[in-house]
Amino acid sequence: MMISNEGSGHNNLLAEDSDRFVMLSALQHYAYCPRQFALIHIEQVWAENFFTAHGNLLHERVDSCEPEQRGNVRFERGVAVISHQLHINGKLDLLEIEGRPPTKYFPVEYKRGKPKIEDWDKIQLCAQALCLEEMREIKIEEGALWYWQVRKREPVLFDEALLEVTLAAIEGAHKLLETGVTPSPTDNKKRCKACSLVDLCEPDAFRHDRSGEYVAGIFSELTESDSNEN
Ligand code: SF4
Repeated sequence: MMISNEGSGHNNLLAEDSDRFVMLSALQHYAYCPRQFALIHIEQVWAENFFTAHGNLLHERVDSCEPEQRGNVRFERGVAVISHQLHINGKLDLLEIEGRPPTKYFPVEYKRGKPKIEDWDKIQLCAQALCLEEMREIKIEEGALWYWQVRKREPVLFDEALLEVTLAAIEGAHKLLETGVTPSPTDNKKRCKACSLVDLCEPDAFRHDRSGEYVAGIFSELTESDSNEN
């Protein structure tokens, strides 16, 4: 997997230079719900619950382990990565480095819960791989997500489809940071039920709040009356 520099709308992201980097973990927030991303990374709102606390503990444990060599494979933990091209940075839970050149690099991300149908976790992992590819000038074909709750390691192939949604999430997150405006709640109410920010977000209240449309309506009426006077 490599980012093509030709014919991609995502290269706008590179042209719109910004000093702000998006954290790899924030991409998962964006993919889950852009409003959640904005609440956390623009408004700096955070609500710790059992799941987030447990997830943080899991990552701390993984990061604190020493690197080790087992046979042909070296295991590096808590590896800091960055992409200057995409303005993203963060940490990998685990990087498996197999064999002598041509060496195989294999990123692994630990998650607290269970495998998901949606791409949220895969997007974060794919973005990690993009950072590594840029830093070490290598090509990474696949990685894995390891789910604590079900003790399952799920392989993830970095194919074109995943690259596309990952680049779209990176671009969307940057754009949202630039505007600094928190978007409306997601229409997917199921996500709100599982969201740690639901109390702070008040999605139902904001869904029913039509003040934005009301103000927009007033402005359009004013504009019409202005044009009628002329
Ligand atoms: S409560 Fe719903 S709308 Fe609000 S941040 Fe969470 S998922 Fe998004």
